[in-house]
Amino acid sequence: MVCRCFEVKIDRSKLSKKRREEVNLLFREAKWFRNAFIADMEGVTYKDTTVKVKVGDEFETRDITLLGSQIRQSIIHGVKESLKSLRALKENGKKVGRLRFKSVCNCIELKQYHVTYDIDMDRSCIRVQGIKKPFRVRGLEQIPADAEIANCKFIRKASGLYFHITCFLPKQEKILPDRSVGIDFGIKDNLTFSDGSAPVNVCVPESKGIKLASRRMNKALKRSGGKKGSNHYKRRNDLRRAYEKNANRKKDLACKTVHDIVNGYNFVAIQDEMIGNWHKGLFGKEVQHSAMGVIKRRLKNSPNVYVVSRSFPSTQICPVCGKLTRHSLDKRDYDCMWCGYHHNSRDVKAAEVILEEAKKIYSSLSGRESSESCAGQALCSETVDQFQGKAPPMGSYARYAGSL
Ligand SMILES: [Zn+2]
Repeated sequence: MVCRCFEVKIDRSKLSKKRREEVNLLFREAKWFRNAFIADMEGVTYKDTTVKVKVGDEFETRDITLLGSQIRQSIIHGVKESLKSLRALKENGKKVGRLRFKSVCNCIELKQYHVTYDIDMDRSCIRVQGIKKPFRVRGLEQIPADAEIANCKFIRKASGLYFHITCFLPKQEKILPDRSVGIDFGIKDNLTFSDGSAPVNVCVPESKGIKLASRRMNKALKRSGGKKGSNHYKRRNDLRRAYEKNANRKKDLACKTVHDIVNGYNFVAIQDEMIGNWHKGLFGKEVQHSAMGVIKRRLKNSPNVYVVSRSFPSTQICPVCGKLTRHSLDKRDYDCMWCGYHHNSRDVKAAEVILEEAKKIYSSLSGRESSESCAGQALCSETVDQFQGKAPPMGSYARYAGSL
C-alpha cells in the first residue's frame, strides 16, 4: 500500500456567519483544552467538559461544548508525543525548554474515520464529531474509489479551512527507464545533471504580493502609532495569504521536479549536501527562496536514489587521476593541476563523479552491477540507511582525501 494525503477545502460560500463562529470556537476550545492539560497533566482527563482558562491574572471556568471526546483524547496524545520528542532531543544533548502554552491552535487531529469524522462522497460533505451540520467541501473527487481512508486533520489557514485526509492506496508497479544520473546541488544552477540535460533552477523569489501586503500593514501600523484595530488583522491575514501562496508555489515546483527525476531514471545519485549551512553562510537569500532543501529531503526518501556522503570532495576531485584541486567559487570550469584534465563545467563534472562514486559503492555493497538496480531497489534504500551519517567506503579516491 502507498500512503497519500489529499487536501480538500471547505466551501466558504456555504458557511454562514454563525457557522464560521462555531468553527472558530472549535479551534479555541482545542487551544483551551491543550493549555489546561499542559498546566495540569494529572488533573485533566479527556472526560472533562469544563476547563480552567487564564484571563489576565484570574482563572475562569469555561465549558467545552463542541470538542468531542476523541478529539480531546488526540490532543492529550499530541501533547504526550511532543514531550517524548523533547525528551529525545534532550537525551541527544540538545538544549530544550519546557512545552509552552499556545496562543492559537490551527490544527485539530481527527483520528478515526466514521467516528471522529465522516465523509459523504455523494453530497461532498464532511461531518466532524461535535458539530451537527456537515461541511460542504471541494476536492473530494481526488480520492480514488479503492482508497482506504485513515485519519484526517482539520486545518485553519489564512486562505481558508481545509481537511487533510490520509489514505492508503494499492501500490502500482512502476516501470522505470534504464538510465542513471548524478545530480549536483549548487547556488548558480540549483540542480545540475550528469547526463547533459539542462540544469534546473528551483528558485521562487518573494512575490510582489508579499512586498505589497507587508508594506501596507507596516505603513498602517506606523500611522496609527502601533495600535492594532480590526483592519490590522485583515491586513495581517492578507500578508499571511501572500506567504501561503508563495509557499504553495515552491512546494508545487519541488514536487514536479522530484517526480520528473524519480520517474525518469532508475538510478539517481545525489550528495548529502549541507544545504542548511549554505543558508547560514554567504547565500542566505538564494537558499531561502529555492526549494533545494525540500527536493533533497524528498529524493533521499525515494527507493531508487542513492546518497553519497557529504565528506566526498565532488567538486575538487579529478575523475582521471583522482587527485584534488581547489577551485574558487567564481571559476566555473574545471582544471586538474596534476594531470591537466579539463572540463567545461565544474558542476557537470561534480555530478559525473557523484554518479561514479555512488555506482562504485552500490556495486561493492550489493555485489551486482548498478544496471540491475531496478531489481535491487529494496537493497538500494537499505544501503542508503546504512550509510547515512557516516562516511561510505571510498575506492581509489580515499587515498587522496586525506591530502586536502
Ligand atoms: Zn587529474
